[in-house]
Amino acid sequence: MELFTVDDLPLIKEGDNIAAMICERTQLESHDVVVIASTIVAKSEAATVLKGAIIPSERAVAMAKKCGTDPALVQVVLDNSVEQIVEFPVLLVENLNGHVSINAGIDDSNVEDEYFLEMPHDPDGSAKAIGMHVADLCGKDVSVIITDTNGRSFKIGQTGVAVGVYGVHPIKNWRGEKDLFGKVLEITEEAVADEVASAANLLMGEAAGGTPVVIVRGLDLYSSDDVSVKEMYRREGEDIIRKGLKCLRH
Ligand code: GDP
Ligand code: MN
Ligand code: MN
Ligand code: MN
Repeated sequence: MELFTVDDLPLIKEGDNIAAMICERTQLESHDVVVIASTIVAKSEAATVLKGAIIPSERAVAMAKKCGTDPALVQVVLDNSVEQIVEFPVLLVENLNGHVSINAGIDDSNVEDEYFLEMPHDPDGSAKAIGMHVADLCGKDVSVIITDTNGRSFKIGQTGVAVGVYGVHPIKNWRGEKDLFGKVLEITEEAVADEVASAANLLMGEAAGGTPVVIVRGLDLYSSDDVSVKEMYRREGEDIIRKGLKCLRH
């Protein structure tokens, strides 16, 4: 397996064609995995909010005061979430697409000062559009994984995670396979999309590297099935951590 960055990408603007920009700079091969930072997908889709135009609600002001954060940021997080799972000392929410993260992934790094950047509004759809466009432009079927950098429960340190997929099943099911001693695996489902996101994130970096796209070659994960990152999200009621956190909320 080989990983490399797509170099010389400019600052991404609304309307930029990410698939074309990648194809112009890389000789893609069939079944490559194209890993793309959500930041540039959001920029190309103009998922930006002008800070000066935000009017925080009373609730946002109160929540921000409690956490010692910016009421405008809290308002954007509320606008971008369907449930607030933890409200203090950080805001952990489920975003409009079902992804659970701090501040709904709202970012103000790697974007102009006057804007907050939202997550892409339909990251599976964005991944699919880019994957299909790549197929049109260079005649190769590729997998696409859109990523963000997220913190984790229990451990210090952020890692890359998948927030949108196309052409790759996010979960590999090992159940039914036998271990070295012939015992049948009953539980293991491997989050391959997150593992690839995390590996690619090593090359993307977090700061001014300017490398939001990484190609993973030699790890054939391609599938022509309809896939969704939502295959990875635990269903309400099956998520004991979420239940526990909600118990602590009041
Ligand atoms: P996130 O993980 O999706 O929040 O993205 P990051 O803010 O961590 O950025 C990941 C990588 O993409 C870093 O190397 C950034 O320098 C780079 N990056 C972010 N925006 C742009 C852009 O508009 N153009 C280019 N060329 N690189 C960018
Ligand atoms: Mn960022
Ligand atoms: Mn981010
Ligand atoms: Mn990042």
